[in-house]
Amino acid sequence: CWEMLDNMEQIGKIRQSTGDTLAELIERGRIMGKENCIFCKIANGGIPSSTIYEDEDFRVFLDLNPATKGHALIVPKVHYADLFELDDELAVKAILLAKRLAERMKDALGCDGFNLVQNNGAAAGQTIFHFHLHLIPRYEQDGAGIAWNPGKVSSEELKELVQLISET
Ligand code: AMP
Ligand code: ZN
Repeated sequence: CWEMLDNMEQIGKIRQSTGDTLAELIERGRIMGKENCIFCKIANGGIPSSTIYEDEDFRVFLDLNPATKGHALIVPKVHYADLFELDDELAVKAILLAKRLAERMKDALGCDGFNLVQNNGAAAGQTIFHFHLHLIPRYEQDGAGIAWNPGKVSSEELKELVQLISET
């Protein structure tokens, strides 16, 4: 079936980019289908959710363990494990949708600020391995701990990093 062929192509791409065996990918939750991924099920309506927006590409629903009042998740209906796999066109659509919904939520909830958060990989705090973008309304003194400890970096390290990362 076409869906399976698509899936095989996708798996091939992931294997090429990560160098993992099929078994390793499955174990790490990088390969999932509609059958065993909770966000596939929710996004496609198989499991009920508190949906605040839906179109042909995405479902947006309220997080069950919210960081703040109104915390929601933009979830594509097609399975992509993370940002590295996400289709370019969907990435553009997701950020435009985030902008629209942030404006709407700011009006509706009267929040004082807004965080867009997007985790990739367990090391980055990702727990559900189906791409999602967190919409987190912020309120003065809401106590939500979305922060890091500011570190230090030397000018040599900065130069090295520019060498390593810059595209030009
Ligand atoms: P992350 O840590 O970036 O992978 O975020 C996963 C988010 O999904 C967390 O904020 C969870 O609270 C949320 N979550 C997990 N299961 C559900 C669910 N069934 N419905 C709504 N939100 C969920
Ligand atoms: Zn999924």
